[in-house]
Amino acid sequence: MALERTFSIVKPDATRRNLTGAVVAKLEEGGLRVFASKRIQMTKDQAEGFYAVHKERPFYGELVAFMTSGPVVVQVLEGENAIARNREIMGATNPEEAAEGTIRKLYAENIEANSVHGSDAPETAAEEIKYFFSDDEIVG
Ligand code: GDP
Repeated sequence: MALERTFSIVKPDATRRNLTGAVVAKLEEGGLRVFASKRIQMTKDQAEGFYAVHKERPFYGELVAFMTSGPVVVQVLEGENAIARNREIMGATNPEEAAEGTIRKLYAENIEANSVHGSDAPETAAEEIKYFFSDDEIVG
């Protein structure tokens, strides 16, 4: 088992409904530790850059509008196999397909407003952490 870091976002639908603590509790109960956390209002430029990989997808514009519609909490998480573990705790993108007990099954409103983001691979985790945090903001 490898100790890894991953990047997480509590999305605007969750912050709006005061679910930040509930989401973080699920992550912690699942064995992940919060090594960095800050509540920010993403700018349009930041959201466009963050989701650049989805630029050609039909929902890109809506996704950027959603992610800038309210505050988000960006986080660095650490734990054993943190990248896969986080995605397991989050559940499938579409809450209708998410397993029982996952964050998205419990809290997501729909496929877009699905409460959390989690990196999908070591390379993206490293890039996404760097996109929002400097090294001195990450404290283990
Ligand atoms: P994730 O890794 O599970 O977050 O899923 P993706 O990387 O495929 O998509 C990124 C984000 O885009 C998702 O978390 C949703 O917020 C949003 N998204 C994905 N699919 C759709 C869709 O079909 N319609 C809309 N409106 N948003 C979507």
